[in-house]
Amino acid sequence: MTATSPLALLGGPPVIDAPGPHFSWPPIEDGDVSAVIGQMMSAVSIPDRSGVVAELEDSLVSFLGVRHVVTTCTGTAALHSMYAAAGIGPGDEVIVPALTFHATATPLFHLGARPVLADVGEHGQLDLDDAARHITPRTKAVVAVHLWGLPENMDALADFTARHDLMLLEDGSHAHGATWRGQPVGSFGRAAAFSMNGPKPLSAGEGGFVATDDTELYYRVLLHGQYNKRCRREIPAVHELAPYAVTGMGLKLRIHPLAAALAHAQLPRLKGYLAGREAVADRMRRALHNVPGIDVPHPPPHARSAWYALPLRYDPDQLTGLPVERFIDAVHAEGAIEVDMPGSTRPLGDHQLFHTPGAVLPGYADHQGPASDNFTNARRVHGSTVKLPVWHRDQDLHLTEAYTAAIIKVANHHKELVK
Ligand SMILES: *Cc1c(COP(=O)(O)O)cnc(C)c1O
Repeated sequence: MTATSPLALLGGPPVIDAPGPHFSWPPIEDGDVSAVIGQMMSAVSIPDRSGVVAELEDSLVSFLGVRHVVTTCTGTAALHSMYAAAGIGPGDEVIVPALTFHATATPLFHLGARPVLADVGEHGQLDLDDAARHITPRTKAVVAVHLWGLPENMDALADFTARHDLMLLEDGSHAHGATWRGQPVGSFGRAAAFSMNGPKPLSAGEGGFVATDDTELYYRVLLHGQYNKRCRREIPAVHELAPYAVTGMGLKLRIHPLAAALAHAQLPRLKGYLAGREAVADRMRRALHNVPGIDVPHPPPHARSAWYALPLRYDPDQLTGLPVERFIDAVHAEGAIEVDMPGSTRPLGDHQLFHTPGAVLPGYADHQGPASDNFTNARRVHGSTVKLPVWHRDQDLHLTEAYTAAIIKVANHHKELVK
């Protein structure tokens, strides 16, 4: 076939011919392997705050600069424990950004509470004007989500929650190590929940944790998912919650010690990883800065992202109306196969559970979900986000350059795809 276009999708040579995957996370080093094997030899079940669980929690306490950390089996469990410990209960409303991973909000359904979705701004941050419109006498809290690792505007959120007398909570699952004015995300709210699931900046494979400065809330996190020994050892016998120590609140959500060992071995390397990601993200942002149809994120100078991904905004109007799906097909054909649109992080109003939870959660039989024409920005931002992985190693710089070159090539030749 004679190529009439250099675009690989139309028969030209691709930019990248190395087979994938081109990105994997977490990086596993020899020390991680020996840490997990060593843990297997010493303890595979830890019922209290000892051993590697205590070591990981202590490391996270100093990493985030908070008073308490409780590890959990997943980030979803951490969010559940955080909401329960914050006293969110039946009928309470919690304002959640309409664009996030569903588990930011879904545990609220298990506390009898109502997630109230508020639209987002141009960069996926909570739209505080829309949030204000959703405040009712039942509103208890607002959740900050640091989407793709970019810190939320914590000045605005702290001011907003103080003004409306609401609790500020955080979901830091994309953003371990991100900072706002030098302060780590996860240390702003009354409490924060983090995932340590596979691809997250700090990974245990599966895991999560709650961070808080509030000792009372800490005891309640323990009671929610860490019953018996741990509660008996840590909640003072004279405390009014001590009689609940044996059963806790009835759930068991502890982290697996092997998962804790993996995260604990990795945590000392996280700052180095994030510095590497920042350098790569800066290169990619510079390379894509003036490319038509592509908008790169511009975090304010006082914000440091964890660069969980590099979220680009795609504007077909600048590319003769080329649909984003066709653009991505062309980029994939160039061999940049890790470029994609967000899958599971999407407008929450699209999920059946947020519309008609009653079919699976009988307590919500009369729950009225949000109208599907709401959250126009969440929809628009989601429908135009194209994300790239952010590598952290110098030896991956050729991939960084090849990926941006693939995007630039497709943008430069886009007319050949629309005719
Ligand atoms: C991954 C994630 C969760 C859920 O964490 P799991 O460890 O997968 O349970 C919650 N919120 C956000 C924003 C996430 O990215």
